[in-house]
Amino acid sequence: MTPPAAIPAVRDGTFLWREHANVTTIEPATLPGNPPLRCCFTTRHAGTSGRPLNLSFDLGARPEVFAQRQQVLRTLGIEQSTLFSVRQVHGNDVCIVDADAVQQGLAGVHADALVTTLPSVPLGVLVADCLPIVLYSLEPCVLAVVHAGRMGTYHRIVQTVIQVLQARFAVSPQQLYAVMGPSIGGGCYHLDARAVDPFRQHFEAWKQFFTPQGKGVWTMSLTRANDLQLRDAGVPAAHIHATEVCTVCHNAHFHSHRAEDGEAGRGMGIAVLLPES
Ligand SMILES: [Zn+2]
Repeated sequence: MTPPAAIPAVRDGTFLWREHANVTTIEPATLPGNPPLRCCFTTRHAGTSGRPLNLSFDLGARPEVFAQRQQVLRTLGIEQSTLFSVRQVHGNDVCIVDADAVQQGLAGVHADALVTTLPSVPLGVLVADCLPIVLYSLEPCVLAVVHAGRMGTYHRIVQTVIQVLQARFAVSPQQLYAVMGPSIGGGCYHLDARAVDPFRQHFEAWKQFFTPQGKGVWTMSLTRANDLQLRDAGVPAAHIHATEVCTVCHNAHFHSHRAEDGEAGRGMGIAVLLPES
């Protein structure tokens, strides 16, 4: 498949369309600060095989999903590990993936973000419209992967992660970099007053990420809402990169819960610290 020119971030070269034998991803062309890490956002395509790519164990046969997860890791150069993910619950709990967690595994852990300082421990969050965010700092070297849907955004998951990075790992927000992946876009995410009201009550800047569409309907930009949370927490604007890819507009290439009436598979935002050379 030729890289889809309809996706602006691919057309302008800020994100690379990477088609392997069994996996197709988009990846930032460069990561600011030259961190020792790889990150990617999977598409719905399993590379040149022409098959679909689904990374949720809830939505596919376990051996096949496991194999597809390993294939994604292989494209990132991480073959010896398995992908660390948690049961996502649209909250703001943060799972620290330390040596004990690596040994015991994460079965039964409910959270919406994962954090590690360990190399070769790949972290992933499942998405199909929700926004995946990769956060990292170079000194100290810490990596986080965040699942920010509407409710996670409401619970300020990304700011909670920043607080954890500060408290546990002495990372100042000014040292953080953020990469935001594809999500349902600000023109496509229609919500009624019931969904919007809680934001109106608790977010002074709610009008900056909701757009009125008339008759009690608004659209929400998850990217814009999380960009504001990142900057409010002290992450420099120049450190924040977003794909600005809408999963509904580009449903041909990305899973979308809304565009597929809840029948979608799941993609992932994945990142891993590379072993020291
Ligand atoms: Zn759209």
